[in-house]
Amino acid sequence: MLNCNDYKLVIISLLWVKLLDKYVKILKDKNIKITPQRLVVLEYLDKNWTHPTADEIYCHLKKKNPSLSKTTVYNALETLDRHRIIQSLTISGSELRYDLDHGMHHHFYCRKCGAIIDIELKCPNIEKMKQYGHEVEEIHGYIKGICKNCLKKRKEK
Ligand SMILES: [Zn+2]
Ligand SMILES: [Zn+2]
Repeated sequence: MLNCNDYKLVIISLLWVKLLDKYVKILKDKNIKITPQRLVVLEYLDKNWTHPTADEIYCHLKKKNPSLSKTTVYNALETLDRHRIIQSLTISGSELRYDLDHGMHHHFYCRKCGAIIDIELKCPNIEKMKQYGHEVEEIHGYIKGICKNCLKKRKEK
């Protein structure tokens, strides 16, 4: 017989699996092994569209999963990136920033607050690449400046 707490645990894990269905499918579609670490990393990126660093992701996940190691998180990110499930950006310097949207889009980096904002711009260079016969998989436009929130704050001062 399961006691009351066991039931609770079963229900929680069923709910968790259900919630993660979406991420299980993403991994299955790419034929890569489904691991709890990869699932929680995907879930985090899906809930935080801020282009976080590996360290930010690790520190956050560590709170809920104390046994999680830094290496596992870094490896999970590297694998997801290599399989083009997520993309990594070097916009803010040497530290990679991660993005669950692996489609072609550009990024705006605010030098004041460090925010990285998605920019949907049609890139005319993709069409031009066709004449060379190459297939373009990624194109990164890094635009830097001061974001509108910081500009607003500056004016209010
Ligand atoms: Zn800003
Ligand atoms: Zn992005």
